[in-house]
Amino acid sequence: MVVPCYNEEDSLPRLVEVLESQLAQVVSSYEVILVDDGSRDRTLPILREIAAARPAFRYLALSRNFGKESAMLAGLSHARGDKVAIMDADLQHPPELLSQMLPLLDGDVQQVVARRTRDQDPAVRTFLSKAYYRLINRLIDVELEDGVGDFRVLDRTAVKALLTLGETNRFSKGLFAWIGFDTAIVDYRNVSRAAGTTKWRMSDLFNYGIDGVVSFNYRPLRLSIWFGVFVTAVAVLYALWVLGAAIVHGNSAPGYVTLICAISGFGGVQMILLGVIGEYLGRIYAETKRRPLFLLKESSHAGGGGGVPTAVTTALGPEHEDRFALHDDLEDE
Ligand code: UDP
Ligand code: MG
Repeated sequence: MVVPCYNEEDSLPRLVEVLESQLAQVVSSYEVILVDDGSRDRTLPILREIAAARPAFRYLALSRNFGKESAMLAGLSHARGDKVAIMDADLQHPPELLSQMLPLLDGDVQQVVARRTRDQDPAVRTFLSKAYYRLINRLIDVELEDGVGDFRVLDRTAVKALLTLGETNRFSKGLFAWIGFDTAIVDYRNVSRAAGTTKWRMSDLFNYGIDGVVSFNYRPLRLSIWFGVFVTAVAVLYALWVLGAAIVHGNSAPGYVTLICAISGFGGVQMILLGVIGEYLGRIYAETKRRPLFLLKESSHAGGGGGVPTAVTTALGPEHEDRFALHDDLEDE
């Protein structure tokens, strides 16, 4: 089980309690990897205590806040089970659901995902989300589903596949869909956070939305071309019309309003299109640097023990080894 934790000091005690009681019922052996994503509160000391007292709980601590994607990746690359579940620390992903999800994983299905209802979301947000998913599924090449998040169980094949993707800009919702494999869905009723507050603001959601679009294809660039062609065609037609009118009626030099509207309108459009190009360019820039996707500053021994750094191995291909597990190098020093 992999749980990314960022400022979750209030959620952790309950999480551990619930996991201990639930997991024992559904599986014969398990390990929980709690990943501290550079929290500013007491999350890390709490994780040390948890790992010290419970052999089945391990923790990793990232050197700073790398974001949930990286925290999940850190956990995934250190998970050793045949099946790996990913879950939020705030108990918004009901652990009881694992008893339904795990049995589905046998045989042909490599991923089981939980899909939440939007019961407790504000109406505006639900509407925007629905519209977004309708739009994005037209735009991009993988199928994203509304309500499906990071709560899922993967088998080893799917984990390995995910870890071979070494990209820096990780839109995990898309990556989970991109790797394919047969996927089963389990529905659950949305629940509110157990404690603490969400780290998502509305602006983050919008940015996340843009990430979704540009992470998975270059269609916005193609759309820009088509839009440019359309605008050019309109401009040519209008020019011909103005020219014709000038020939027939003479030039009376009206059109100040049209001119200003056109200039400011096209100015805006050009900025947006430049932004689209810039977005891709920025991503290329980030990818070319090939920086590691996270850095560990601390981790627990495999069997608990608290605070002792351990050598870390990953299931990755050699080409990505350096990007997921720099840890070993750091230790030598
Ligand atoms: N999280 C993280 N790093 C971050 C932000 C969030 O590891 O930079 C974790 C957080 O601790 C939680 C999960 O990601 O376990 C989901 O975060 P949150 O509940 O804030 O998001 P929401 O449920 O509102 O989408
Ligand atoms: Mg949450």
